[in-house]
Amino acid sequence: MPLVSMRQLLDEAAKGGYGVGAFNVNDMEQIQAIMGAAKETKSPVIIQASRGARQFAQDKYLFHLILAAAELNPEIPIAMHQDHGNSFETCKSAIDLGYTSVMMDGSLKEDGKTPASFEENVAVTKRVVDFAHERGVTVEGEIGVLGGVEDGHGAGGTGLEHVTDPDQAVEFAELTGVDALAIAIGTSHGAYKFSKKPDGSVLKMDVLIAIHKRLPNTHLVMHGSSSVPKDLQDVINKYGGKLKETWGVPVEEIQLGIRNGVRKINVDTDNRLAMTGAIRKVLWETPEKFDPRDYMKPAREAMQKVVAQRMTQFGQAGHAGDYQAVSITEIAKGYKNGSLSTRPLVAAK
Ligand SMILES: [Zn+2]
Repeated sequence: MPLVSMRQLLDEAAKGGYGVGAFNVNDMEQIQAIMGAAKETKSPVIIQASRGARQFAQDKYLFHLILAAAELNPEIPIAMHQDHGNSFETCKSAIDLGYTSVMMDGSLKEDGKTPASFEENVAVTKRVVDFAHERGVTVEGEIGVLGGVEDGHGAGGTGLEHVTDPDQAVEFAELTGVDALAIAIGTSHGAYKFSKKPDGSVLKMDVLIAIHKRLPNTHLVMHGSSSVPKDLQDVINKYGGKLKETWGVPVEEIQLGIRNGVRKINVDTDNRLAMTGAIRKVLWETPEKFDPRDYMKPAREAMQKVVAQRMTQFGQAGHAGDYQAVSITEIAKGYKNGSLSTRPLVAAK
């Protein structure tokens, strides 16, 4: 299957009532781990690259690895997504490369750190939407500001300083026409999300539910949604690591989100933890080894295991064969004739 529009993938997820994991990649082994898990669980999948990843791997290397993944797995719908684009230019460069989806994170200014005004956010996001939709490419926007920092991107803090206001979310969706919307409900990027076990009152699920009621056609996105499981932390610390005790987003909270309009769930930290733990174990137990394959293979397997588990938990497992790819050209026509409009007709309270 050619790379598919993320919009098609999320529309299908909405129809089927499930969520789709969006997993970050930087290198070949991570892409292989995700594809291994997608094949094993028969899941459609979103692969995403941050600006840092595109810089680390270099655009052409990374994109051609994705094309290889699509070529080798024709039965799996794959959307290739730019994670946290900081400017029109970043998003345009991803679209020019062939990404089928971009996130324009206009919640922050171009430095990726300073919160932007609502007007600035609308202006830059609308510009990206106009450019992307003309080419059949999906756009995710962000309203409210997430906590933490990842890959040098983020405003820091706990994620509760700038929780999304539902009225503003509706206005933002009307003004920009985004396909998907990242909202701030108390999640943060990185490994250190919560310093104690979140008890269900920590995340603002009522805000999410209120937004979904008023924007039923806009796919909601949960960022910073690694669960940071203790067993993965333990492996790292057992073999010489020094992670401080920390808690992530419980899978049950994500599943509650999925029942209320969350269609894309971003996971990165859990995969990082799985790979690093596997590598540490090999190097600790067999210090005489020096062939990178001796630790990259277990690292890839450890990541595949986590990804497959998330795919099952999010409900995307088993859905790879539900549909055929609609070409990006057809999708572009749908935006032009209005059939793919997500704008709320009546913003009823
Ligand atoms: Zn994010």
